[in-house]
Amino acid sequence: MKLVLATRNAHKLEEIRAIFDFKSLDVLSAFDFPEIPDVVEDGDTLDANAIKKAVEIAAATGCWALADDSGLEVAALGGAPGVYSARYAGEQCSYSDNNEKLLCELAGKPDRSARFRTVIALSDPEGNVQTVEGACPGRIIEELRGTNGFGYDPLFVPGGYTETFAELDSEVKNRISHRARALQKALETWGDLLH
Ligand code: IMP
Repeated sequence: MKLVLATRNAHKLEEIRAIFDFKSLDVLSAFDFPEIPDVVEDGDTLDANAIKKAVEIAAATGCWALADDSGLEVAALGGAPGVYSARYAGEQCSYSDNNEKLLCELAGKPDRSARFRTVIALSDPEGNVQTVEGACPGRIIEELRGTNGFGYDPLFVPGGYTETFAELDSEVKNRISHRARALQKALETWGDLLH
């Protein structure tokens, strides 16, 4: 069986390979299929985007495909930016534009609770697809702290910690993050299939 990890993000590939002990599977990534265009992530939920990526890559390659989509969900903003996390402040925006917008939207709001959530989808070549998810609850602080990581990390303090994701060691983040939890769930759910 061949499995394609539907991402061109080297960091994500590393995280997936660190959790799954692929022995009998032939594991490829989107890097091995340069001719396949990036899937347009136009779904309005994380589930829809993860499913779309897995199903389209499985159909295009004739292999099984594993895809993920993540976002930050802020309670006082009704779950925003959610599926729009990457382009919260506009199409070509930077991480710092997004962080600035988040602080503006939350100004004066007492409830700072939030969570990161990841959905992972697994599709067979015929488009039969299943999903699992993982979340990391926490809160949004009032100013940027720390330089590790990416995205909203300098504003997010995970539950049970006082440091932001950007202040914590990457080893700690990679153990408790939404992606790590979703990958653990994927391992529990599909471990017999994906080894
Ligand atoms: P993706 O689906 O993993 O590409 O994530 C979409 C967007 O969510 C990213 O561009 C970031 O803005 C945000 N995001 C996802 N995961 C993280 C994280 O671990 N830390 C900070 N921001 C994240």
